[in-house]
Amino acid sequence: MSYQVLARKWRPHDFESIVGQEHVVAALKHALDENRLHHAYLFTGTRGVGKTTLSRILAKCLNCTGEDGKGGVTSHPCGKCEACRAIDEGRFVDYIEIDAASNRSVEEMTQLLERAMYAPTNARYKVYMIDEVHMLSAHAFNAMLKTLEEPPEYVKFILATTDPQKVPVTVLSRCLQFNLKNMAPAAVASHMQSIMQQEGIPAEPAALEVLSRAARGSMRDGLSLLDQAIAFCAGNVTLEKVRAMLGVMDSDVLCDLTEMVLEGRAKEALDTARKIGLDGVSYTQAVRDWASLMHRIAIVQRVPGAVTDAGSSLERIQKLAGAMTPEEVQLDYQILLQARADMAQAPDEYAGFTMAILRMLAFKPAGFAPGSRVPEKKEPQPALQAEAKPVSAPQPEVPPEAPADIAPPWVDAAPEDPDRGEH
Ligand SMILES: [Zn+2]
Repeated sequence: MSYQVLARKWRPHDFESIVGQEHVVAALKHALDENRLHHAYLFTGTRGVGKTTLSRILAKCLNCTGEDGKGGVTSHPCGKCEACRAIDEGRFVDYIEIDAASNRSVEEMTQLLERAMYAPTNARYKVYMIDEVHMLSAHAFNAMLKTLEEPPEYVKFILATTDPQKVPVTVLSRCLQFNLKNMAPAAVASHMQSIMQQEGIPAEPAALEVLSRAARGSMRDGLSLLDQAIAFCAGNVTLEKVRAMLGVMDSDVLCDLTEMVLEGRAKEALDTARKIGLDGVSYTQAVRDWASLMHRIAIVQRVPGAVTDAGSSLERIQKLAGAMTPEEVQLDYQILLQARADMAQAPDEYAGFTMAILRMLAFKPAGFAPGSRVPEKKEPQPALQAEAKPVSAPQPEVPPEAPADIAPPWVDAAPEDPDRGEH
């Protein structure tokens, strides 16, 4: 048997196996159970979150006749009757899937809708699924509108779009709209885990974690990446190989870099930057990942325990959160975002990346000697767990929560001009 890609092989065939869209599934099931069916549905959401899958399941629900051939509309399609099997196999004449991106002209739409006037050949409902509906021309929308206004009772429309803003209001207002959510990396990873178990392919959980983040909210993209990883890793999906395949860096390297910047170890930081390039990692990707690391550090500083998906790097993130001030994290994050925006204008990616490092070093808070985290003078660090003060807040005479291990400035420094910076 030829190899079937995972996204197809593991496409859910009933509501119960849909991952991550509980709110939509619950509403649809309720409508089916109560027999309160709308004649047009609109599914919105990014690619690969389950719009087509949901539409096929809904078509089965509407047309399932049950194993004994006597069933009616149901929220639990049997999967065995002729209608269920035909829809699963893509040969059900009364379930019509159209990609509006390629069939967008008014003639095609008119023809299609003319056929909607005829009763279904061998089914309860004729279901039209129009994918990427926002791509239809204005005339095609108008042609559709008439049918949407007064559809024959045996016709159901399921419209899907990644861009609901481009769908005319007149169409939107005639549809029951469902917004499909982006998949959380944790949901994608756990689905991958269960697929790999059933497929009997060994995979490191950390490798699946990296893949699930690279999926950027799309289950289909995630499963395509998993396919690719299985081929790339020749059977055993490991973190190391997945990182090599995606060209993403070891998160430890970014933690190392953050530490080097924090401690003013400029030479080591630049050496590491060069090595990142030699490893074939894109600097643009590295900047993005680094900003994402800063984001996590900032969250951990404010709400310890709120970061749950950091896997093995959590411990280091916690350590960095304790070693940096919230202001430093904010500044570094800003510098990284700016570096990403500047990347196109930088002489080259290496220059763009290293300038970000140098900028972080240049803007390190005053009062810290290079190579040391011990303040030379003034400005004791606020206690790390304490609420951060706004940067612009006036400095109180006596900082309220100086950590015990750092001597406050009035202990050994003469009370002179507070703006007398480093020497
Ligand atoms: Zn059935």
